[in-house]
Amino acid sequence: MAELSKRIGLLDTENAFKIGPKIRAIEDSGKKVITCNLGEPDFPVPGFIKDEVKRQIDLDNTHYCDPQGILSLRHAVARHFQQTRGVDADPRRVVVFPGGKPPIGLSQEAYCDPGDEVIYPSPGYPIYESFTRYVGARPVPVHLKEESGFTLSGSDVASAITRRTRMIFLNFPSNPTGGVASREQLEDIAAVIREKSSPDVRVYSDEVYEDILFDGARHQSIISSPGMEKLTILVSGASKSFSWTGGRIGWALFPTIEEAEVFKNLNINYFSCVSPYNQEGARLGLESPLAGPAIRTMVEAFQERRDLIVQGLSSIPGIRCQKPGGAFYVFPNVRGVCEHLGILDACRSLPVDVRKMTTPSTLLQMFLLFEYQVATMDRKSFGRIGTEDMHFLRISIATDMESLKQAVARIGEAAQDVKGFKRFIEKGENLF
Ligand code: PMP
Repeated sequence: MAELSKRIGLLDTENAFKIGPKIRAIEDSGKKVITCNLGEPDFPVPGFIKDEVKRQIDLDNTHYCDPQGILSLRHAVARHFQQTRGVDADPRRVVVFPGGKPPIGLSQEAYCDPGDEVIYPSPGYPIYESFTRYVGARPVPVHLKEESGFTLSGSDVASAITRRTRMIFLNFPSNPTGGVASREQLEDIAAVIREKSSPDVRVYSDEVYEDILFDGARHQSIISSPGMEKLTILVSGASKSFSWTGGRIGWALFPTIEEAEVFKNLNINYFSCVSPYNQEGARLGLESPLAGPAIRTMVEAFQERRDLIVQGLSSIPGIRCQKPGGAFYVFPNVRGVCEHLGILDACRSLPVDVRKMTTPSTLLQMFLLFEYQVATMDRKSFGRIGTEDMHFLRISIATDMESLKQAVARIGEAAQDVKGFKRFIEKGENLF
């Protein structure tokens, strides 16, 4: 292969996409894998959205369109943010992207110079950390505490802010923990940011799980706190709310029209525009009264599954599982299982080159996948810095109830299988 730039070597990845070939190889050998690794709802796109997309294609709405996003969708996004966050949103400050993911890296490119610092949650969505080094900035993780339900306090953020802080990423409801910050916590974080940060800091509030909340809770956003609208980039999209990850539609509200125009130009440079027929589908999703019931059906199913899996996992010796308030993941602490199976010692005894590639929770993840056919995600897939002694798995509940029951039973069996783990590690294959 040709020599590549130093910069490209700094880019990390999202492992949820990389585990697919391993699962396929296992399934090709005739074993069925229960996929608790996926970060997408297992529901179809609501019918009224599908119909609108098909109608738009039949109308030949299939050409280049406004690189900032079609005006009708930007209006719908602005109205949605006005109604749900109480902000004075203007469609000229809204930019549409191919999903909620691209604005993460584009924002770091747009706001950060080498040496600037980027604060982000750990465990957190891996793309925040991945892009930070790529743009030459310094990653500053804020560790979310299990005992506080993986939320965040003002003082957690305060201790991470310095003169060089340029961006602060927040994500509630959170991937991978399902943690949801309360209104009071958000007010507390906002007060710290207003007091300690420069007016040039940008708070990137990733709210793509805004609609997936349990126990009747209402979504809360930091942008609704006094003074935060002029600091906050508010991001959401169609992937989770409309179960439409393949539609590739996301959007962001920027603090100023000028900043939105910078992102419009980034869009022109990178991909020209986002498919107009899908944008019309997303617009209807935001505007139609049919969206509420479709979302409620999905959220009720997730809540039922959450209750089942939290109870099931908590009854396994060596597992401690917080009850998530939103999203569709649980993030159990599996230290006890790692200790019982001898994973911590086994990991320490691995040859140095293998040791560099793996962690105890990775070994447990691989043991579950290859020996018990349950696909999960390990701790290091959600931030690496300072996590050497943290042993967690992410289990997605975007899988039907029967499969989840099976998954819990298999994890329970695996957690007792000391001999099986010994055989697995002695084989020396598939350790990361
Ligand atoms: N942010 C978070 C926290 C996510 O979990 C995801 C998807 N897993 C995204 C952004 C990106 O979503 P999209 O498919 O809309 O790009």
